[in-house]
Amino acid sequence: MLKNSLALEERLSREKRPLPVEETGLSGGVRNIKKRMRRRKSLHDRFFEKVKKENCWLWTAKKEKAGYGRFSIRDHEFAAHRVSYQLLKGDIPDGFTLDHTCKNPSCVNPDHLEPVTMQINLLRGNTFQARNASKTHCPRGHPYNGDNLLKQKYGGRECRACRLAARIAKSQKRGQEWTETE
Ligand SMILES: [Zn+2]
Ligand SMILES: [Zn+2]
Repeated sequence: MLKNSLALEERLSREKRPLPVEETGLSGGVRNIKKRMRRRKSLHDRFFEKVKKENCWLWTAKKEKAGYGRFSIRDHEFAAHRVSYQLLKGDIPDGFTLDHTCKNPSCVNPDHLEPVTMQINLLRGNTFQARNASKTHCPRGHPYNGDNLLKQKYGGRECRACRLAARIAKSQKRGQEWTETE
């Protein structure tokens, strides 16, 4: 969708002509069309007038809650950093997401954006899943690997040694003899 919109926008600005009247739903003769032609900016200009270039290129227009910029092309909104990357560097490979290596969500500097798989982005990010996935040991220091690692549904992990200890403690409390059932 973005690709198509970009292509359309670029073609129109290259040809220096406005959208056909029937597409805009506007009318008003040659004079208005000429006015609109003069006003018409390229997608590139329209995008980068919203950017304040420091080391990070800061998006100054609409942002979503998490801080990512939003940019409209026609009636569609896109993530500003993705538009920037596509304008300056090219297509984002299928199945890849752009990671902000500068950790600044409002930055649209393509040099700070690296295409990575979703999984890597989660691992690098500061999400709940990422913090957990990056832990190599349980809170009591047993390793999260080999036989000691219990994988749960939905990607959670549990320490076998701690689970065993918890079961023993529980059965001792009840005065029962504990046996492993698995
Ligand atoms: Zn940046
Ligand atoms: Zn443990």
